[in-house]
Amino acid sequence: MALNALSYCCMNEKRLKILNIWVDAVTRNQALHMVEDFIEKGNRPHIVFASNPEKNFSVPRDPALYDTFKNADLLLPDGIGMVKAAKIIYGIDIKRIPGVEFMEEICGLCAEKKFKIFIYGAKEEVNREAVEILQKRYEGLDIAGRANGYLKEQDMPALVDKINVSGAQVLFLALGSPKQEQWFVRYRDQLENVRVCQGIGGSLDAITGRVKRAPEFWCRIGLEWFYRLASEPKRIKRQKVLPIFAVQVLFAAIGERMRRE
Ligand code: UDP
Repeated sequence: MALNALSYCCMNEKRLKILNIWVDAVTRNQALHMVEDFIEKGNRPHIVFASNPEKNFSVPRDPALYDTFKNADLLLPDGIGMVKAAKIIYGIDIKRIPGVEFMEEICGLCAEKKFKIFIYGAKEEVNREAVEILQKRYEGLDIAGRANGYLKEQDMPALVDKINVSGAQVLFLALGSPKQEQWFVRYRDQLENVRVCQGIGGSLDAITGRVKRAPEFWCRIGLEWFYRLASEPKRIKRQKVLPIFAVQVLFAAIGERMRRE
């Protein structure tokens, strides 16, 4: 079964094509090992994006972003929709790796290995508070620099300098999607020491408790999206594409079955 799916792979041998985008069929441990390798052996910024159904619609709208997404170094199965789609289309079981949890795993790795971090994004007070929380939570964590996500275009050269001077090997981008992905496309060539850059969306709001993550029960039954929608009704704008995603996945599954037979 896996072999059929592998015919869709690009640079990552575990990459599955799900409708218009991709997701990597990796476990948390494998993903974390990849990050460790990117930092220790890499000589360029590697990008870690979260893959979820909303991006199936937003990413293809921007050709540069589409290309970067397709060639990303790691595409986390962040949304339950990607996990279900991998199962329905290819019969492949993957487990969810929510971006915010993976960010914290990277923090743990950095604290242990003495890698430096820079955090760019979110409101000033959210960014500051998240840095304090993470430094307390991960003993020895070196957050070498931070900046809020509301800087102006003319501040970008100074920001890039600040990131480079900090010596951070890990950069977390908390600008929301697709802003953070677009920022990476635009500035990646100017990053001197960064080896891993993860787009973390609203993770800092979750870490500081401003946005409530769904309790374990809702995640287990695959309805975290519903919990978030109920607690933040304005998310309906982005979540309204989910039924279309579900229907398209069913058609893709039928197509894949016919192709196999
Ligand atoms: N944000 C930012 N700069 C901007 C727009 C947004 O730093 O110009 C931050 C915002 O404060 C929030 C995050 O980006 O912390 C967006 O979170 P959201 O939940 O919308 O992102 P998602 O995780 O869904 O991509």
